[in-house]
Amino acid sequence: MFGVEGLRVVEAEAEAGGSVTVWVTTDHPGAAVCPECGTRSARVHEHVLTRPRDLRRGLDRVQVAWLKRRWKCGAPGCGRKTFTESLPDVPARCRLTGRLRGLLAAEVAERGCTVAEAGRWQHVSWPVTHAAFAERADPVLAQPPALVAHLGIDEHRRGRPRFAVDPGTGEHVLLADRWHTCIFDLSGEQGLLGQVEGRTADDAAYWLAQAVPAWRDAVQVVAIDMCSIYASAVRRMLPAALLVVDLFHVVQLAVKVTGDVRRRVVRARYGRRGRSGDAEYGVKGLLVRNLEHLRPEQFAKVMDTLGGNRHGQEILAAWIAKEKLRDALNLRARVTGSTPCERDVRGRLFGFYDWCAQHDDIPELVTLARTVSGGRTRSSPQCSQG
Ligand SMILES: [Zn+2]
Repeated sequence: MFGVEGLRVVEAEAEAGGSVTVWVTTDHPGAAVCPECGTRSARVHEHVLTRPRDLRRGLDRVQVAWLKRRWKCGAPGCGRKTFTESLPDVPARCRLTGRLRGLLAAEVAERGCTVAEAGRWQHVSWPVTHAAFAERADPVLAQPPALVAHLGIDEHRRGRPRFAVDPGTGEHVLLADRWHTCIFDLSGEQGLLGQVEGRTADDAAYWLAQAVPAWRDAVQVVAIDMCSIYASAVRRMLPAALLVVDLFHVVQLAVKVTGDVRRRVVRARYGRRGRSGDAEYGVKGLLVRNLEHLRPEQFAKVMDTLGGNRHGQEILAAWIAKEKLRDALNLRARVTGSTPCERDVRGRLFGFYDWCAQHDDIPELVTLARTVSGGRTRSSPQCSQG
């Protein structure tokens, strides 16, 4: 009933404070076999007590007290004088039962818990929990990735940069970059395929170069951000793939442009940064939201605050440009449920470009329109679903 193969419960006692002590002995045919020469021993050298960690029983902590035998190896010519019993589930020098290691690994791998959180409830330290997780993850990582049709490449910020002083030159050298490059399977089930340190074209190309040629040939579309660094890596390593800009980054840019215009206008009007109390400051949170997520009174607040004067109207024009661009992006199949027809996409994009052209006195909108038109020639409507 204890459930660990090879362990037999001798006695169990409830301790004060809600923990249970379970006394066990070994009951496994292989336990008395010398690990060096494979001879079964019949001579007990001594008894030793070990306390491997095990799962909780409900809310109670379980203390396993395992009375092991240390055997004498009498085989002639064997270098091993004595050996202690071990089990497949609790190998030599292992301080955790297999099922506890399995639970810790599953908490991280299946449930997405942090390593620290997975170990905390079982009173297992971070390094031991991480080792259990790595034991499970390494065989999976060793398998080559399956073919991917739609690949995503993006940067990811992780941890802090670390520097060291070069003893020769006295200059600081970067040991660990805080920026990583992540490679994703966008349309399949594989999720994150790889992560390399750094965010240069060489860093991305390095990972792509490790893949087998057949895998690289299978990639049809690569979605990246609007910066040219990854584009050059993809052109170098995956020349046949279609390069598209990820939808997230297009919207992110339009939102940033709205903020840029607001900051410039506020500085022109007050001669300083915006602060609470300014009319524009009160709606800055609303400007970054999607139009369809604004309540009617919030929409009215934006219009009333910004529509009344020349400065506000400039911010309003940038906000409307963002929404016109989103209008075109909202034709994607994930929103509408059907593949967009090219004429509709053209029509809505025309609306965006036309609006930017009418407001060509706002330099940020001119730049945005130019960037989007440059990005669009490389993308196709059915592929920019991000
Ligand atoms: Zn032996």
